[in-house]
Amino acid sequence: MPGIASKLTDFAAGITAIDADYIRPRLAASHLVIDAGRAAFVDTGTTHSVPNLLAALAAKNIDPADVDWVLATHVHLDHAGGAGALMQALPNARCAVHPRGARHLAWPAKLIEGSIAVYGEERFRSLYGTIVPIEESRLFVPEDGATLRLGGRELELIHTPGHALHHYCVVDREHELIFSGDTFGISYRDFDVDGREFIFPTTTPVHFDPEALCDSVDRLMSYAPQAIYLTHYAEVRDLERLANDMKTRVRAFAGLARRYAAAPDRGIKLRYAMFAMMSGWLDEHGFPRDDTARHRLLDDDVELNCQGIEVWLDRK
Ligand SMILES: [Zn+2]
Repeated sequence: MPGIASKLTDFAAGITAIDADYIRPRLAASHLVIDAGRAAFVDTGTTHSVPNLLAALAAKNIDPADVDWVLATHVHLDHAGGAGALMQALPNARCAVHPRGARHLAWPAKLIEGSIAVYGEERFRSLYGTIVPIEESRLFVPEDGATLRLGGRELELIHTPGHALHHYCVVDREHELIFSGDTFGISYRDFDVDGREFIFPTTTPVHFDPEALCDSVDRLMSYAPQAIYLTHYAEVRDLERLANDMKTRVRAFAGLARRYAAAPDRGIKLRYAMFAMMSGWLDEHGFPRDDTARHRLLDDDVELNCQGIEVWLDRK
């Protein structure tokens, strides 16, 4: 595929971030991990992302038959929507999915229905296209702490609730790194200021649980990683500061939710207040005071986060 090089970012330890071309550049990544000629993808983007993933394999001279694993951190469609289409192109791969997510990859009807409820039919089709089911026999359903082998390395899959109950993270102890899916939040490279990373939580419907999410962040940090690879977007390294910001901001979102819980126009107030809160964090971070850019980069997340927070409020 022409131009694939511009969509790849190489890191240490055989890791490459591939732009999933979801919504805008550098919003969602799939991570390709190569070890001793064997390969794994961590998250897949959507069905529309699959050509980029296969082009990345070709660029790295890896045969699709040498991909052993597709690791779907959780079944939200920007992470696993493309898993079925990708698996069709990888004859020897198995797909690892959390016990609570497995049925959604094998029988995606309910997942599709839930996403149409969030996005509407038309936007769903343009964002995700066709969701291809995965044969049950090709699924690996890890218990908490299960390990798997990729070439010469061992990867540990740990259950990390808080963003979603069907979420696991991938720990590589030897290389002191973790693939966090959405558990460690979102850090778009667009928000970097002089190389300093900016982070915020993602509270997408329907499983947001603030205390569970803070506990999961602590659990990731208990491995003392040197780098974390986020699906949104790629590598972050200033981990102590970012972990603290994540937990503070998760609790700040929960506080906003409580403040407006009984308001008659709760949805509107919540959206307005969340954008203002995040904009304040960007001020502290030193990001340019450009509201057009801020809205362009944040509005979709504010909407999804507020939907998730309202579901949490209604469940409490
Ligand atoms: Zn998610």
